[in-house]
Amino acid sequence: MSSSSTLEIQPSSEAQNSPEATRPKVGFVSLGCPKNLVDSEVMMGLLHRGGAELTPRAEDAEILVVNTCSFIDSAKQESVDAILEMVEHKIANGGRAKKLIVAGCLVERYRDEIRKNIPEVDAVVGTGELESILEAVGLSRPPAVESNSPFNILSTAQIERHASSVNQHSRPESDSAQVVHETASRPEGDAREAAGRFSREAWDGAHTALPTYLYTADTPRILTTPRASAYIKIAEGCDHPCSFCIIPQLRGKFRSRPIASIVAEAQHLIARGVREITLIGQDTTCYGEDLAPDAELGRRVELADLLNALAPLPGLKWLRFLYAYPNKITTRLLETIARHDNIAKYLDVPLQHASANVLRRMKRGGTADRFLQIIDKARSTVPGLVLRTSFIVGFPGESEEDFAKLCKFVEAAKFDWLGVFSYSDEEGAQAFTHEDKVAKRTIEARRRKLMKLQQKISTHAKKAWVGREVDLLVEGESEETELLWQGRTLDHAPEIDGKVLINDFGPHEELVPGTFYRAEITESHDYDVVARIIE
Ligand code: SF4
Repeated sequence: MSSSSTLEIQPSSEAQNSPEATRPKVGFVSLGCPKNLVDSEVMMGLLHRGGAELTPRAEDAEILVVNTCSFIDSAKQESVDAILEMVEHKIANGGRAKKLIVAGCLVERYRDEIRKNIPEVDAVVGTGELESILEAVGLSRPPAVESNSPFNILSTAQIERHASSVNQHSRPESDSAQVVHETASRPEGDAREAAGRFSREAWDGAHTALPTYLYTADTPRILTTPRASAYIKIAEGCDHPCSFCIIPQLRGKFRSRPIASIVAEAQHLIARGVREITLIGQDTTCYGEDLAPDAELGRRVELADLLNALAPLPGLKWLRFLYAYPNKITTRLLETIARHDNIAKYLDVPLQHASANVLRRMKRGGTADRFLQIIDKARSTVPGLVLRTSFIVGFPGESEEDFAKLCKFVEAAKFDWLGVFSYSDEEGAQAFTHEDKVAKRTIEARRRKLMKLQQKISTHAKKAWVGREVDLLVEGESEETELLWQGRTLDHAPEIDGKVLINDFGPHEELVPGTFYRAEITESHDYDVVARIIE
């Protein structure tokens, strides 16, 4: 499955409240990041529970849903292209597709413009309105959970796994338990709201109320990730002031799910065969800061507490989290990562830049020296730590000197995985108003230069992998050639890092996707390595 294509699911074997003849057939296209993918999985779960039949083939669908991304220009263009492609299905396919629904971040940003400029779009569903996908499709919403207490008492999820490209099957679930959900907000978020950080007043048609939706362990979800792996969104929204980013306006203020809800979801996923869980949110290291203090701990829970609660779950082989904010990496968090064998010794910290001048204008703060101190501490507390980061080059006002500082920092820090984004000027972001924009060709040249630098660092580091024995989660045939298979180690997060290519099945006639094997690394390339299975 690709996050930018029609989600590969098989038609549902069950529907809860619709007779066969009236079950609408819905096709889904999901774009953007894993956080958006979880939203797609939630909407598919709601639709399935509501009686819809899901189809992986756009040409078979009566209703098409495109869940869009609006992070940067290229993502917006990809979203518009996908919508127009689905318009073609609606017009060209003998009238089979009767409805086209657009969901996600593009709706939050361009709600009115989508409807005005693409009249074939029948309904729009914002990031805070996932449950209204039911009305958009023509199904009714289940009654709301009633409670007059300040706590929401929720039963645990019926989480269904559907077939995807790696042979998954629907497995209905009927367990139940209870979790307690109580939220407040972060003082930083309240202050930034008062200062206008989340304002969408200038946005054509945007709802004035920010999205507040957060799925729970009670929300049905259909997994589309390869068997054995699943994401859990532990928080939504963001309170940070980064001046290049409109995600806080698109997704709302930071809000965490309670630990009990996340643990309940993890248990259900594990019961269905998931062995690797990846925790996500816009900033996972702020986890818990908006929750009421925990009576037993006498303080608010933190990401470290969540990891401590999840790591001992029987059957959970790998646990990781993505998207850490640099100044939120605490000693307690690092020690927790070091303590549990099944937590990936892996930190994904998008640093965005290393020049203090640019970081200040990005409204992120920090300096190259401070970041190197954080990295040194992380590496000494967690032996063998793998580090991923990403940078933006060409932020307004980035001088040659700033860029040189960034390159020097990258050489010193020696990241295991690194992504470089070209600055994208987003209307509505504070940086949009800066006048000292960097020329596009300069931005591209800097991006290529930084990637080349990282390629050298990576090529050298990957050589040290040769001869290592590793646990390998086999994903299936290689995306590049049917002559090879591919998998991941605990040092590779799903979808974003390099690959382990498998050219020798060792003692096995064939490999089973979604299964762990022992393997030896036999060759290295720039970013990928080659392995042979040994057990
Ligand atoms: S941390 Fe900054 S870049 Fe990341 S989502 Fe929040 S505002 Fe955007």
